[in-house]
Amino acid sequence: EKMQGVGGREEKILVLVRLRPLNEKEITSNEAADWECINDTTILYRNTLREGSTFPSAYTFDRVFRGDCSTEQVYEEGAKQIALSVVSGINSSIFAYGQTSSGKTYTMVGITEYTVAEIFDYIHMHEERAYVLKFSAIEIYNEVVRDLLCSDNTPLRLLDDPERGTIVEKVKEEILRDWGHLKELLSICEAQRQIGETSLNEKSSRSHQIIRLTIESSAREFLGKDNSTTLAATVNFVDLAGSERASQSLSAGTRLKEGCHINRSLLTLGTVIRKLSKGRHGHINYRDSKLTRILQPCLGGNARTAIICTLSPARSHVEQTRNTLLFACCAK
Ligand code: ADP
Ligand code: MG
Repeated sequence: EKMQGVGGREEKILVLVRLRPLNEKEITSNEAADWECINDTTILYRNTLREGSTFPSAYTFDRVFRGDCSTEQVYEEGAKQIALSVVSGINSSIFAYGQTSSGKTYTMVGITEYTVAEIFDYIHMHEERAYVLKFSAIEIYNEVVRDLLCSDNTPLRLLDDPERGTIVEKVKEEILRDWGHLKELLSICEAQRQIGETSLNEKSSRSHQIIRLTIESSAREFLGKDNSTTLAATVNFVDLAGSERASQSLSAGTRLKEGCHINRSLLTLGTVIRKLSKGRHGHINYRDSKLTRILQPCLGGNARTAIICTLSPARSHVEQTRNTLLFACCAK
């Protein structure tokens, strides 16, 4: 649904769906691919064995991307319009939502890289202003926030700043020098995110990662003078915990606490997104989870939002795929 954006502009949450191809393991075990994008906006469930099922079989979104679409296409034809609004001083957030192994990290890393490349191009073409591009990265695991650029693992506190809203205290911010520097920082984050994992994807399936780019700029003629006006805006790339965690509420032993906490951030995000998509009337419960608290300045208001829902086409994943599509439908 529509909501009012800057200057009365109609703004809504952009909902994109990306289907990944069957992977080698699925092909080897003769998995059927039951989902097909029949055009640029509609994805269809095609399981001839289940004909007559009461479940809806066609789902329509702003844009759907087939298994053979590249991340560059997802960026160019989908995410770019939201991500690049940062150079015009507009905050934004781009989320990847989906079950573990559906392609969230694959998609978000690529989109972050394309965005940074284009921001650098933009900066070089606009020499009348002086720009600083800052990079920071955090992880939220069990409602505890940690810095992915620091190895000391100390939990970070959230503070309420009267002007800037919620800020993450002492988070490390690196000034991005060039492309090589970005690659270096991304690999530090990846290594940091995997510490403590008992198996591949174990921890990353339970934690939310936020990569944040902030652009600050001021007109060169005013640099260093009192009347220099600095513009600042932030874009967040949010690689969410696996959405299967939202449905597994009660698991055994030590996992119980984790389950509840992962639920808290994912469920609160779902509630916030649903309210925003209905036009932002009334109270929005940003403060109910760390994730939504941190993202509040970049959600709603004048900020722009895109959600990329990633799907596996495999028959064995049909329940999770449907859950993801239901989430996507609630957001549009
Ligand atoms: P998630 O972060 O959702 O758990 P990943 O992004 O790690 O999933 O993807 C799981 C695996 O599938 C990775 O090996 C990744 O390279 C591969 N993959 C994901 N999406 C695609 C795609 N659209 N095309 C090709 N390979 C993909
Ligand atoms: Mg991942």
